[in-house]
Amino acid sequence: MKKIIRIAYLPQTSFFMKLLDGVATSKLIKQEIAAAVLEMKAAGKKVPHLAAVLVGNDGASLTYVGSKVKSCEEVGFHSTLIHKEADVTEAELLDIVQKLNSDPEIDGYILQLPFPKHIDEHKILLAVDPKKDVDGFHPENVGRMALGLECYLPATPAGIIELLRRYEVPTEGKNCVVIGRSHIVGLPMAILLQRNGYPGNCTVTITHSKTTNLKELCLKADIIVAAIGKPEYVTGDMVKDGAVVIDVGITRITDTTKKSGFRLAGDVHFESVAPKCSFITPVPGGVGPMTIVSLMGNTLLAAQKRS
Ligand code: NAP
Repeated sequence: MKKIIRIAYLPQTSFFMKLLDGVATSKLIKQEIAAAVLEMKAAGKKVPHLAAVLVGNDGASLTYVGSKVKSCEEVGFHSTLIHKEADVTEAELLDIVQKLNSDPEIDGYILQLPFPKHIDEHKILLAVDPKKDVDGFHPENVGRMALGLECYLPATPAGIIELLRRYEVPTEGKNCVVIGRSHIVGLPMAILLQRNGYPGNCTVTITHSKTTNLKELCLKADIIVAAIGKPEYVTGDMVKDGAVVIDVGITRITDTTKKSGFRLAGDVHFESVAPKCSFITPVPGGVGPMTIVSLMGNTLLAAQKRS
């Protein structure tokens, strides 16, 4: 699993860079989850059931939901996709959420965001039963996470933490810069990295669009987590030798040479940053697959708690 890439020619460093391989790691975790599902079946228990609520036909959202449904099949979960047109009303969505909350067949469910502008996402999110909130976005789960209590961790930060754990990346006492403060990635990532435990015990600086000295902060960072949504924003001149770089960004860039018409770009300029790193995640194949298996892990936990 630990793929070691030796950079043939490193003009500035003599580091060996390790790729944090989200594809290989997530495959392993899926096998572990599938084994747990088989055990549940053998014990006569119901297999985990994940539902997803999708509104509209945004290409990226369709792709993400499709991957989640496929992953459910791979690990032996049941899955249900509730797909509504973009003109669905808030009342209709609240009704769907209430039904999912009370449906004994459903262990957990996700709301594939963003919703169209006429829907108050916060209002819908608050209606989700925290016990079925396998995305970990409900304030109850966020609050429990901040206090270090048992909860569903948001999938992307949880996936990053698991990647750090499985590759035994040192974190204690490290200076970490998280770029981005969104509620689903940057903020929870910062909370998890400062926690007293492993991975954790970092000294965390959280940055955002109003930060004036990002490059200066990044150059002092042992660990950088980039969750900005701006393609290739973090460049080699912003990263110190030996840093660990986690690239969360996924942006579709038009590329007429591709059959799909686009390519995926991360927030990190891989070519200039990777040669300076001790560890780095690629895009695609880094954080993305880990996000999906973390969701599967939360759903398994939800089912185990209910059985
Ligand atoms: P978001 O809600 O748009 O948040 C972006 C954050 O970046 C904001 O906090 C923003 O600051 C900050 N920012 C913007 N420009 C900046 C700059 N120049 N310097 C420093 N900070 C800056 O995005 P998100 O939901 O966190 O997602 C970020 C990226 O990760 C996107 O590309 C998204 O597609 C991707 N993503 C990937 C996964 C995965 O599984 N791999 C999962 C989730 C998201 P302000 O708060 O000041 O606006």
